[in-house]
Amino acid sequence: MPERYDPTIGADAARAFFTRSSKTEIAHGYLFIGPSGVGKKSFARYLAQSLLCDGNGEHALGPCGACRSCVLFGHEGQSAHPDFIEHVGALKIGETAGAGFATTGDTTSRDLIRQLAMQSYSGGRRVLLLADVEFASPAAANALLKFFEEPPTGVTLLLTSSTPAAILGTIRSRLTQLRVAPLSRDEMIRLLAQRGFPYDAVERVLARARGSLTRALELLDVDAEAPHAVIARWFDEAIVGRTPEANWATRESLDEGLLAIKTLLKDAIAAPFLGEGPGRNIDLARGLKAFEKIDDAQRLARTNVSPTMVADLVRMAITGLVTE
Ligand SMILES: [Zn+2]
Repeated sequence: MPERYDPTIGADAARAFFTRSSKTEIAHGYLFIGPSGVGKKSFARYLAQSLLCDGNGEHALGPCGACRSCVLFGHEGQSAHPDFIEHVGALKIGETAGAGFATTGDTTSRDLIRQLAMQSYSGGRRVLLLADVEFASPAAANALLKFFEEPPTGVTLLLTSSTPAAILGTIRSRLTQLRVAPLSRDEMIRLLAQRGFPYDAVERVLARARGSLTRALELLDVDAEAPHAVIARWFDEAIVGRTPEANWATRESLDEGLLAIKTLLKDAIAAPFLGEGPGRNIDLARGLKAFEKIDDAQRLARTNVSPTMVADLVRMAITGLVTE
């Protein structure tokens, strides 16, 4: 079963590290750190499949792709392998009482503890992947602390994080840390070409994606969407005080974008008087002031001030204008 995309692209250091290792040398836990969208999860899944594979001898990296374990492992996060447990995102602590595991995907720290206390399905190794790991509360982290200190025999822990500083030091210190770097320009071009994106579209988003495949895919999506819809979404977020990324603000689109924002602002100010937008209150004085600031931004847009900075000025002018 060939991999559609090479899951080790970008993870050069980690690939070199595990290529040198044999299964018997695997430590009880690893933490993959690096910016989001650079392939930490893909690498960790690939490593998990390799460690569980029955057909690759003692190799820590590189599954055979054909054994029963590999077949169960499946593709792209669709694993049905009973000895591979994966959880993505924040972990809650969970209920003390109650048997059985959450089947909704909302796995909690306590579910994991119960699951890890059980015997392996195959009698061999089990792998727990906590991707983009975050703990919803200190209690949720503390509940797992004992397992990080002393994992049950045969359990390998794999964690990924773009914000390792947010993970308890006591947990981090139990893990071997490996860095996954942003993808290079060539790697990005190759990965996006494999996904069928034409070179000129890829070229437009490369710089803004900063080596993150996830971000590049988002930007390619945004580019395909009608520009006005993108600006409207940005406006809706900014006006309630969030800080959306101004993907729409490029040298070419800035002028048109600022005009569109003026229209959106006009509509937002008028909405309460027209009986629209129930429950939304707009600060009228600040709303009018925001127009002046957008005028300033339009003037700035004709200079060589960066489009992102112009967008940010506009965002600050409209931020929190509306309370939900
Ligand atoms: Zn295999």
